[in-house]
Amino acid sequence: MSTNDNQFPSNFIRQIIADDLSNNKNNGKVVTRFPPEPNGYLHIGHAKSICLNFGIAIENNGVCNLRFDDTNPEKESVEYMESIKRDVQWLGFTWNELCHASDYFEPLYNYAVQLIGQGQAYIDSLSAEQIRAYRGTLTEPGKESPDRNRSVAENLDLFKRMRAGEFADGQYVLRAKIDMASPNINMRDPAIYRIRRVHHQRTGNEWCIYPMYDYTHCISDAIEGITHSLCTLEFEDHRPLYDWVLDQLQTPCHPQQIEFARLQLEYTIVSKRKLNQLVTEKHVKGWDDPRMPTIAGLRRAGFTPKAIRDFCERIGLTKQNSWIEMGVLDYCIREDLNENALRVMAVLQPLRVVISNYPETQVEQLEISNHPQRHELGKRQVPFSKVILIEQDDFAQLPPPKYKRLVVGGEVRLRGSYVIRCNEAIKDTDGNVIGLHCSYDPETLGKNPEGRKVKGVIHWVCEQQSYPAEVRLYHSLFKVPQPDNEENFLDALNSDSLEVLTNCRVEASLADAKAENRYQFERTGYFCLDAEDSTDGKLVFNRTVTLREGWVKD
Ligand code: ATP
Ligand code: MG
Repeated sequence: MSTNDNQFPSNFIRQIIADDLSNNKNNGKVVTRFPPEPNGYLHIGHAKSICLNFGIAIENNGVCNLRFDDTNPEKESVEYMESIKRDVQWLGFTWNELCHASDYFEPLYNYAVQLIGQGQAYIDSLSAEQIRAYRGTLTEPGKESPDRNRSVAENLDLFKRMRAGEFADGQYVLRAKIDMASPNINMRDPAIYRIRRVHHQRTGNEWCIYPMYDYTHCISDAIEGITHSLCTLEFEDHRPLYDWVLDQLQTPCHPQQIEFARLQLEYTIVSKRKLNQLVTEKHVKGWDDPRMPTIAGLRRAGFTPKAIRDFCERIGLTKQNSWIEMGVLDYCIREDLNENALRVMAVLQPLRVVISNYPETQVEQLEISNHPQRHELGKRQVPFSKVILIEQDDFAQLPPPKYKRLVVGGEVRLRGSYVIRCNEAIKDTDGNVIGLHCSYDPETLGKNPEGRKVKGVIHWVCEQQSYPAEVRLYHSLFKVPQPDNEENFLDALNSDSLEVLTNCRVEASLADAKAENRYQFERTGYFCLDAEDSTDGKLVFNRTVTLREGWVKD
């Protein structure tokens, strides 16, 4: 694989930038931007764009701006802006300037005046519906508006009065005068300003006209001196308009727009509009519900910035839309957590075990490693006493073939502790096993037993010195790989996406678990504390990912 700096695999955008640098284009500078619309929380698709834009800047000693594309005030909010800033920082990136399209409302207006003066924009009184009808289709050219040849003086006057608030919403629009017969519909005199009396979170009621996205975006890029404006493929057909606007205005800088394929991830949705619907209709608990593919949801589920960055690098960058399997994301987080998560023990579905030959009141503090390979992560003390809890399914009355765990008359090793033998299963009146009577072999702490092999190792906690916990296991939010392609994506929701286990017990060391720590519950999976929902009396843990794909205990 070719690399441009021995660290990152190349891709077509890195190649374009390397070529530009070697031609000293833009005086050897690289300036990118990440331009979200603050109308929702960021999702994993945005992470791809963030890693790309910030990554390209970092690799080339350039800078990347965070720009809020806030030209649609009805749908935008401060909450969304704050969440976006938090998520970009959490992913590990620092923006050069924090910008807003609304910072440029005045220059955008002046540029529009310039276009009008050059005879390249006009005020149209057609209604939105009429404009649509006049636009034509892919096979038929559009029809010119009767207002298209309004004089420059009249256009300038009307535009000034639009700004001054003399007209009703929708009464006029400002359109670029390009080509109603263009094969590219985006070039058929697109609207560039509309009248909208709506309060803007930053500019208040100063404006009653707002610029349209395509017009705003290219000029914002130019004002900021962006060299490479990276966006997703659906903007490919908008590029001629991007270039047209900047060419007519002769802006001091003309950024190069380059498109790449959006991330599409199986079994989930990456569209803010649909994610918003999941939240407002309460199909999930909020934007940061751990089942959500939002950055906030992934964080709450225990994903790390490193794993997400790794994922974005691994999926690569192309011009072909394709679907990425969820397994790729799971792989990336497992890689990180396997190396970095602290090992602890937690019993999700407890079965009570009394060790008959263990002294009644004795409590031993066993030293157990926090990580099997990384000894620098140290050891912790885990209390052991006469009554312990093990996982219900680590005991079988009728063991399947090759079962290595506990059966009546059989032995098993308790992780980091002794070998125990099961002498008797205690049953309720329905025949359900509600407890075990075992004995321990005092000679087996850190040693193999004499003259026999014990194959199975199971996890456990001390009943008395462990903490109650709720554990939330998450399954995929949708039942089908491409919910976006369903007639109604909500029909594809998986009604079993959340499994809550309320009687779990976790080892004593987890009493001061921290949300930023990651844990491997031995043999069970990777978990993190849900700081929001944990209380003094009950810790809540979220499962980030299982230990292995399709893993079954043996
Ligand atoms: P959504 O449909 O989720 O609202 P969007 O493209 O409208 O997505 P923006 O806030 O406009 O969202 O996106 C900011 C940047 O992130 C844009 O440059 C956009 O191209 C990029 N982006 C959004 N979704 C994805 C995705 N799935 N994969 C890669 N980049 C994306
Ligand atoms: Mg958008």
